[in-house]
Amino acid sequence: MNSRHLSQFEFCPRLPALAISTLPPLQPIREAIKAHIAAGLRPVLSAAPVTSTIDFLNEAASAGFLYPSGDPFTLAQDYSCWLDGALRIVEELGLRLTPAPPAVAAGKRIQIESAYTDASTLHLFLIGSDPDESKWPILLAQLAEPLTIELHLFPLPSARGGRLSTPLTIAYRHPLTGSLRLATLDGETNFSAKWTRVGRWEEEFGWGNWRDGIDRDQCIDQIYRHFTIYPERDPDALREIREDAAAIAAAIPLPHPRLRENCSICPYARICHAEKEVDHVDDDARSLVTVH
Ligand code: SF4
Repeated sequence: MNSRHLSQFEFCPRLPALAISTLPPLQPIREAIKAHIAAGLRPVLSAAPVTSTIDFLNEAASAGFLYPSGDPFTLAQDYSCWLDGALRIVEELGLRLTPAPPAVAAGKRIQIESAYTDASTLHLFLIGSDPDESKWPILLAQLAEPLTIELHLFPLPSARGGRLSTPLTIAYRHPLTGSLRLATLDGETNFSAKWTRVGRWEEEFGWGNWRDGIDRDQCIDQIYRHFTIYPERDPDALREIREDAAAIAAAIPLPHPRLRENCSICPYARICHAEKEVDHVDDDARSLVTVH
């Protein structure tokens, strides 16, 4: 069991038991990216060869993913480009870390996802733009009682208009000069419709040049954010965290009702609701497709 299962319980109490026992028929691509970045951290943080981007594309070409609306091939390449860039930024930090031990709550060992440590500092590498989105990994990290928690956040926006528009993936080409920009600068609003979008993978831009563009266009904070958290020291507060974690961990294996408002965006909808289709609607509408 890991910290993600505790977060899933708060999304739907039925979900973590399903996630522990079976893979969904197809993973939403955003969830797949989280798993691949988690897998890529260990080699990056121990200076071993990293194969996450290739593994991700192989999975896109074999099992496939659930995609937001758009061309699956383009989206898979955009997301793989984001994954590659995020791991390069982690590499740039120059950290050498080992996986953090699990938190223990009422005798249950709960792995803290994407948590690594050196002598006194626990590092959390998470997808999201706000520490509040990472409730359970941060709570469980406090149970390890490090001196500080260094939170490394990688914002991952939703795909829009069939592309994943982040400065790790997409540049904008000026209609007249052909110059490329990764982000608007202070005082600018948006790139007009005349600027064309071009993916890093589409023109095989070298990472060195792209990284220079991130500095030039001052957009690292759209890619990576770092926070230092000073953990809770109050024994009563730590006991409360431990008790809450233990209560959720104990409740996960119990049966729970299945009709939830979140079913339409859940990858287990076709298992929980095998007898009927669940509509996939809105911007996160997903089509069942495989990239070849
Ligand atoms: S399909 Fe619905 S009931 Fe089943 S795990 Fe997902 S959110 Fe929960």
